[in-house]
Amino acid sequence: MATERTLSIIKPDATARNLTGKINAKFEDAGLRIVAQKRIQLTPAQAGEFYAVHKDRPFFGELTEFMASGPVVVQVLEGEGAIAKNREVMGATNPADAAPGTIRAEFAESVGENSVHGSDAPETAAQEIAFFFAGIELVG
Ligand code: UDP
Ligand code: MG
Repeated sequence: MATERTLSIIKPDATARNLTGKINAKFEDAGLRIVAQKRIQLTPAQAGEFYAVHKDRPFFGELTEFMASGPVVVQVLEGEGAIAKNREVMGATNPADAAPGTIRAEFAESVGENSVHGSDAPETAAQEIAFFFAGIELVG
């Protein structure tokens, strides 16, 4: 499997509970390298642009409001099969369905406030990384 990069976001519910380090440890323990990282606060409009694929879903308003409600940590994770590996470490969207030991099983509060975002495919990973990071910030 090839080395990949994926976009990860530690969401406001997790930054509020001081979980950045514990979540980063899960990534590193799984062999994912955090090759870029910054803590920012999104506006609702920026959150809406990032999640535009979900704009017609009933939860869109709640999702963008939540994502703008506090700081997030946006990061690029790198490793063998990083996109799928990160999804595995994250666990299912709904923490009630997430496998034991996953980030969402341990930390998520609900299906909406579920602690982390991870890209779902190579195309979306490339788009999402470019949304937050300039090439000069990606030093490997
Ligand atoms: N979400 C929600 N209600 C739902 C489904 C999703 O609030 O019924 C939120 C949740 O924060 C989720 C995000 O929308 O992480 C994006 O949904 P997606 O289906 O892409 O899940 P993910 O890729 O994050 O597992
Ligand atoms: Mg998704």
